[in-house]
Amino acid sequence: MRLFEIAHSGKEPSGRASTEVTYSTNRVKRRRDTRFSSTSAISFVYERWPAISTTTTATATMLTADADQAVHPLFSDGDLVLQSKDNTIFRLSQETLRRTSPWFRTMLALPQSPSGGELVEPILMDESADLLSGLFSIVSGIELLKHHDFDYLESLLRVAEKYEMPMVISTVRLALFSPFTDVPCPIRLYGIACRMSWENEAKLASTRTLGVDLLAPTALPALVALEAPHRDKLVALHRQRKDVLIESIDDVDLFYANQVGSACNFRDPEQDCTAIIDHGVWGAFKYALLRHLEYVPLREILNEGVYRMAELEKLGHAQCSECSRTLYDVGGTIQKLQRVVNELPKAIEWP
Ligand SMILES: [Zn+2]
Repeated sequence: MRLFEIAHSGKEPSGRASTEVTYSTNRVKRRRDTRFSSTSAISFVYERWPAISTTTTATATMLTADADQAVHPLFSDGDLVLQSKDNTIFRLSQETLRRTSPWFRTMLALPQSPSGGELVEPILMDESADLLSGLFSIVSGIELLKHHDFDYLESLLRVAEKYEMPMVISTVRLALFSPFTDVPCPIRLYGIACRMSWENEAKLASTRTLGVDLLAPTALPALVALEAPHRDKLVALHRQRKDVLIESIDDVDLFYANQVGSACNFRDPEQDCTAIIDHGVWGAFKYALLRHLEYVPLREILNEGVYRMAELEKLGHAQCSECSRTLYDVGGTIQKLQRVVNELPKAIEWP
């Protein structure tokens, strides 16, 4: 087997060290350049294109893949050959990639061999066959995403960004917010939407984070991973909801029981009883509710835990010590609390 060595000196963007590429006629033995920047199609060509062969002529034909390299069944025909990092061969039309990816359009417009001949070696890709098949299925019109695994979608989005494929990005966008997609952590979903500047999705995802305690050990890594402006907006939303709720619970107009030390007939002067009510039972309930707030997701403020509170039960049984009047309408109180919760801000401010 003949081996050839080439150095790309003189072809590369200025300022880059030349990269030696060693390869055989049918199997690339190149040394991976860890300095490679994946965002540039031009750099990709200069650094990775293994197609140049001293045996190539202008009439060279596409090289057949090695026998041990599986050809993906959906991509077995085309004038461009790509090889996944796990050695699956993809054949597809250059025209498809030119039309659907500015990145590939740029790359394929560059000279691909000294002789101007056709490609003779597969283009080596960084991605697995699983990701490439998802990518190419969409742009080739074969099928949309057939599964909704969150990690897969997130990876596919990164690849679509890298290769500038708007159709794939749009498809992943829909899939990420599909009800069929099991989102392991809404904070991650929120982070993706913010990073992609998807306003409506970012707001929707921020609402979904209300079911999460941001400071819980399971959520904290995702929170820390957010870009600072996005993290600040989310923390502000959660903080604002708590602040408004606490303020509302203490509102003297909304809950008359906040008038500590008022007379029994405070709201009904026609009643004779003027006994002073300290509303200690109400205070105990508020304290319990605030403690409850610290540990429940903001979306579930009025959950079963509230209805089972001993302090709520005592509220229902509280009577005036002199006239035995029932002091509190528990049903009405819960309804008021529910209205307060419903009116709390539910999504981040944008931008
Ligand atoms: Zn009374």
